[in-house]
Amino acid sequence: MSFASPRWECVLLPAGRAVRLGAQGLSFHPASGSGSAEWVLLAAPDSRVSVNGENAAVTGIRVLRHKDMICAEGMRLFFSGEKIAAVSALEAADVHCARCQSEMQTGTPVLLCPECGAPHHAEGCWDAAPACALCPRPTNARGLLWSPVEGGWS
Ligand SMILES: [Zn+2]
Ligand SMILES: [Zn+2]
Repeated sequence: MSFASPRWECVLLPAGRAVRLGAQGLSFHPASGSGSAEWVLLAAPDSRVSVNGENAAVTGIRVLRHKDMICAEGMRLFFSGEKIAAVSALEAADVHCARCQSEMQTGTPVLLCPECGAPHHAEGCWDAAPACALCPRPTNARGLLWSPVEGGWS
């Protein structure tokens, strides 16, 4: 999710919770509680919201797709379906780092590849090569790979 005021800002949509944003009658809801990346946009019938130039207020509900542009009352948002490489503490036992192959202790800061889910030591292993140990996902981008500017929008 990106804002353009005055420059692009990335806002993470929390898993499993609805989010209300600036414009009246505009809210984002996870389509299922199963941690999927599906989100739906709800717009009040009298709000002026458009998605990719179409009037979303006609139906009031819309499943969001990666790179969708949402315009609402002077605000412009972009929806990104990308997952972000996030660091968390390892909970499971008997997990091996995809890069160095060594066993990781519970509580170790671990970074799961957003693309393939391969676990890496967050410090020293994930960034040790240009790509994930198991897939082509670049490791230098901790944020979003796609941004509205690179995507041809301005
Ligand atoms: Zn490692
Ligand atoms: Zn990967």
